[in-house]
Amino acid sequence: TELSKIRNFSIVAHIDHGKSTLADRLIQSTGTVQDRDMKEQLLDAMDIERERGITIKANTVRIDYEADDGERYVLNLIDTPGHVDFAYEVSRSMRAVEGSLLVVDSTQGVEAQTLANVYQAIDADHEIVPVLNKIDLPAADCDRVAEQIEDVIGIDATDAIQVSAKTGIGIKETLEAIVKRLPAPKGERDAPLKAMLVDSWYDAYLGVIVLVRIMDGVLKKGDQIRMMQTNARYGVERIGVFRPAMQTVDELGPGEIGFITASIKQVRDTKVGDTITHDKKGAEVALPGFKPSVPVVFCGLFPVDSSEFEDLRNAIEKLALNDASFSYEMETSAALGFGFRCGFLGLLHLEVIRDRIEREYNIELITTAPSVVYHVFGKDGVMSELHNPADMPDLSTVDHVEEPRIKATILVPDEYLGDVLKLCQDRRGIQEDLSYAGSRAMVVYDLPLNEVVFDFYDRLKSVTKGYASFDYQMIGYRIDNLVKMSVLVNDEPVDALSMMVHRDRAEARGRAMCEKLKELIPRHMFKIPIQAAIGGKVIARETLSAMRKDVTAKCYGGDATRKRKLLDKQKAGKKKMRQFGRVDIPQEAFISALKMD
Ligand code: GDP
Ligand code: MG
Repeated sequence: TELSKIRNFSIVAHIDHGKSTLADRLIQSTGTVQDRDMKEQLLDAMDIERERGITIKANTVRIDYEADDGERYVLNLIDTPGHVDFAYEVSRSMRAVEGSLLVVDSTQGVEAQTLANVYQAIDADHEIVPVLNKIDLPAADCDRVAEQIEDVIGIDATDAIQVSAKTGIGIKETLEAIVKRLPAPKGERDAPLKAMLVDSWYDAYLGVIVLVRIMDGVLKKGDQIRMMQTNARYGVERIGVFRPAMQTVDELGPGEIGFITASIKQVRDTKVGDTITHDKKGAEVALPGFKPSVPVVFCGLFPVDSSEFEDLRNAIEKLALNDASFSYEMETSAALGFGFRCGFLGLLHLEVIRDRIEREYNIELITTAPSVVYHVFGKDGVMSELHNPADMPDLSTVDHVEEPRIKATILVPDEYLGDVLKLCQDRRGIQEDLSYAGSRAMVVYDLPLNEVVFDFYDRLKSVTKGYASFDYQMIGYRIDNLVKMSVLVNDEPVDALSMMVHRDRAEARGRAMCEKLKELIPRHMFKIPIQAAIGGKVIARETLSAMRKDVTAKCYGGDATRKRKLLDKQKAGKKKMRQFGRVDIPQEAFISALKMD
């Protein structure tokens, strides 16, 4: 296709503002998909995505559109993941296109993710077309929201398009704006091949599928290609486009977006952001800005039933083939036995992987507390990364510890501002900015990531009744007074419950943790001390008193079937417990005990 007839774009929006619905309407109204094949949220393929209503992997579709000027255009939409965990993937897919539709719910206005995503688009030099969605609703207030877009984001919203992705109003205008207002891609057909590796995933039939954007040159079936970062070489087997079903084509030229397959064994062999060129007469210099995404949150995954360890290994290996941003290594815990220490891009990523293991592989898991990566500096000046609080070296060898910090942006209606400030303050936050975006306050905080990974988002939602929106980015490491707190149950340390805490907060945390555990651990035939300690020093303590009698004692030995039932129940309950020395700890304890307040 001629460059002047191509438009490549993405849609940026806060969650629920209507990105997927708008994509569906664009696809449907251009006849890309026959009405009878249309199902809602066409681009959100994975089950978990559908259930949670989030788009995780970038998806793409090629739309043919005959514009009012009588010309036929090819519109390539790349649907980007909307969540902060996948920020790197968002930034890559943004670099593969020239423009964005900025969708804002006209009944809600600009939210934290709107800002985070639109700034990525601005960074990628996009032309941006504001779209005010949901104008069919009585609460729509286009003037106010347009003004807010100008005030807060600083882009011109006078020509914002008023749309109802639900009823179809404004869809034609949106398509015309894509053609008229977004720039055509640039590129040289005769230059050496430069294709950006935008995304890759595993397909059961075709193997690894690689989504590419051709910058320069032409890619054809049978070409010998080379990945410039990894130096891996392959022969191109298939080449095609998404409509959104796969359709093979003969070649992809400059400005085009499509897929290739090339007998690539695993997704790990493809690095998002890498440059693909021809093995012979290839490009000399790769496209700029390649950086691999690194896991920032780690936790242990252990099978509840230790005989399922091999099944868990199999599940994790399979999932890792398809998700290069997820890391794992074997871990043994005195308390939990054999399992894996896994690294994720963020909490949502963690939840998605955990859910998939439980659901698709049917393995019940114990998840230990998520931890961030600390930088531990020894007395010898050597820095080592700490992925697991249980591995924290003895304090006498440690010079200092640094922790990752984030810049968090929170938008919240005025009446909840006080609660939000208190929450951030409680989490060791440093206020950086407070301003107003229309009727909402916008606060920017510098926060330790470890105070956010566990339940910050839940707390934020609950103190603001769901009215706050939140987004963050990593800003770097900073020194602080951080120590490892261990937990002892019946005088035995439970490694899976150790955590890094700020020294000033240790007593309060320790006390809360012991109280929680006291509620969560069932009573035994003997008294159980529960303690929190730093180094050898106990900082909090609770005692779980002994149980008086056996559950079955209630039956007075009379009804045998009832007794059997009770024993079965006990047994089933036991399966979900783990024994620590002589004490059974239910698996919920590992998560619940770490939740604050
Ligand atoms: P996304 O999270 O940005 O992909 O948002 P969705 O497309 O999933 O939409 C979120 C919700 O808003 C869904 O329940 C949609 O049906 C609804 N929605 C989307 N567009 C419109 C619209 O124009 N009008 C109305 N009334 N509802 C809409
Ligand atoms: Mg969606």
